[in-house]
Amino acid sequence: MDGLNGQKNPFLDLPQGDYIQAYYMWIDGSCQALRGKTRTLAKKISSVAELPEWNFDGSSTEQSTGANSDVTIKPVAFFKDPFRRGDNILVMCDTYAPDDSPHVTNARYECNKNMEICKDQKPWFGIEQEYTLFDYTGKNPYGWPANGYPGPQGPYYCGVGADRVKGRKIVEGHYRACLYAGVKIAGSNGEVMPSQWEYQVGPCEGIDMGDHLWVSRYILGRVAEEFNVVVSFDPKPIPGDWNGAGCHTNISTLAMREAGGMEHILKAIEAFSKKHTEHIEAYDPSKGADNARRLTGLHETASIDKFTYGVAHRGASIRIPRQCDKDGYGYFEDRRPASNCDPYTVTNRIVKTMCLGQ
Ligand code: ADP
Ligand code: MN
Ligand code: MN
Ligand code: MN
Ligand code: MN
Repeated sequence: MDGLNGQKNPFLDLPQGDYIQAYYMWIDGSCQALRGKTRTLAKKISSVAELPEWNFDGSSTEQSTGANSDVTIKPVAFFKDPFRRGDNILVMCDTYAPDDSPHVTNARYECNKNMEICKDQKPWFGIEQEYTLFDYTGKNPYGWPANGYPGPQGPYYCGVGADRVKGRKIVEGHYRACLYAGVKIAGSNGEVMPSQWEYQVGPCEGIDMGDHLWVSRYILGRVAEEFNVVVSFDPKPIPGDWNGAGCHTNISTLAMREAGGMEHILKAIEAFSKKHTEHIEAYDPSKGADNARRLTGLHETASIDKFTYGVAHRGASIRIPRQCDKDGYGYFEDRRPASNCDPYTVTNRIVKTMCLGQ
């Protein structure tokens, strides 16, 4: 435990001159965690093009060998830094090998290419990020009894009260910090399992979905750090009769959002039904092994083995919201992506099936 977490830092009101601090972050070799480091820049930044490329030691992140260790990071988006504030920034980067080819763990590169190809269709995404808070040891869900379990699920979802809600300060801090940063957070709610929470990011068009979701995850981890709490994105953190954690992905194209859009929604679902295996492989970082623990057919999930869809059906792979069915247009929800998915991989797989016929 870092005894300094939660203490106020008396040095942070010192003036920093014209210099700014830029926190560069990138996805590491696990494809499910962010790493980051800080550099000083001479002045305030107003466009991504002003941000220099950088590099890191890939042998420490499972992204290269020690003998040829430099991995290049190229800035792709930046946000206001809610921790350092002022003109300081958070910089999302993607990764490149020494020959300047996209690193094998860089799913953004292909995603961005495909988003460019189908940008006329204006694909929108909204992701519901679920996660679980753990105490600082990372072993016990935050606020659970040290030896045993809380009462069964039921009263916790969207609950109020110290007996039903654990860690709201983190949730509220994260929400406000995302708004400040410019991350397109859309909402939050307490989940069915105690200490499990959800927030939504979106709607975001194309590549922005992945950029915004990754930065929202960084902000969540950093806020929780201040309270000595650990964020877990494990899709089934507690085995047994406890809900897992997902990243429901809501999807639409321009045609689906306009009158008569349902025809296009049903056509997309038909295409998805023929690519179930390919989607499952893209929906967690372990080609489906993580989701196998979660997509059991119980706890508001569909079985991993079978593709199903339905209106307002929360036990199906894909759900058409009741309101969209009534309106005859709108969007649909893919309930299969796991909480630890790479949103670049997920949204890339979706546009390949939905827009590119691949
Ligand atoms: P649920 O009822 O499944 O819990 P939520 O309210 O948690 O749904 O999340 C809905 C998500 O859908 C939000 O992230 C929102 O931004 C997104 N969304 C809304 N409209 C669209 C749309 N037309 N296309 C894509 N995503 C959308
Ligand atoms: Mn060094
Ligand atoms: Mn939701
Ligand atoms: Mn949920
Ligand atoms: Mn949902």
